[in-house]
Amino acid sequence: MDLVFNAKIAALESDAQGAVCGVRMADGRVVPAGLVVVGIGVTANDQLAQAAGLAYERGIVVDTCGRTSDAHIVAAGDCTARRLDDGSLLRLESVQNATEQGKSAAAALMGQPRAFTATPWFWSDQYDRKLQMADLSSGADQWVVRGDLQASLASAGFTVFHYR
Ligand SMILES: Cc1cc2nc3c(=O)[nH]c(=O)nc-3n(C[C@H](O)[C@H](O)[C@H](O)COP(=O)(O)OP(=O)(O)OC[C@H]3O[C@@H](n4cnc5c(N)ncnc54)[C@H](O)[C@@H]3O)c2cc1C
Repeated sequence: MDLVFNAKIAALESDAQGAVCGVRMADGRVVPAGLVVVGIGVTANDQLAQAAGLAYERGIVVDTCGRTSDAHIVAAGDCTARRLDDGSLLRLESVQNATEQGKSAAAALMGQPRAFTATPWFWSDQYDRKLQMADLSSGADQWVVRGDLQASLASAGFTVFHYR
């Protein structure tokens, strides 16, 4: 697998039949492709929340215990935006967030509220690569790379530390 960083896509190339045959980068390089998968982010479906009259802001607004603006309704996972102590909203799409929020939401339903405040973490297996992330990097203004980013793609791993 090749990872291409700092690259902008200028266009998708198509053959005479109109089928995609490559991806053209802004620097003119063309990557041949028979199939292109585009990842452009997601928007949570707010239909049910709107119908129930729940507070909604990029997701169903919940507190750290999974409670919505309606005392009888809890929510967990990708559909939520969690209100943090500083008033900001945190929207996370990860397995850890969904499972831990689910536990908090269930506890709240049982009348035993238990806040979910754990440090976010994320993992993903991409073919022969394993990506792991601890905590959030937004707001960082310094990056330190341990290991050689380019060499590591072909060999061992690398670590990036984010600082502010
Ligand atoms: C391609 C892809 C790769 C990912 N890779 C990773 C990864 O490597 N690591 C990681 O941590 N996270 C990953 N994620 C994110 C992770 O899958 C989600 O954060 C997690 O599944 C969210 O769980 P959830 O229960 O909130 O939502 P979902 O898993 O989406 O479950 C919601 C369920 O509700 C059902 N549903 C929807 N509407 C209704 C309705 N009206 N009535 C009844 N049922 C309904 C849906 O069919 C679905 O089964 C990935 C996501 C995608 C799409």
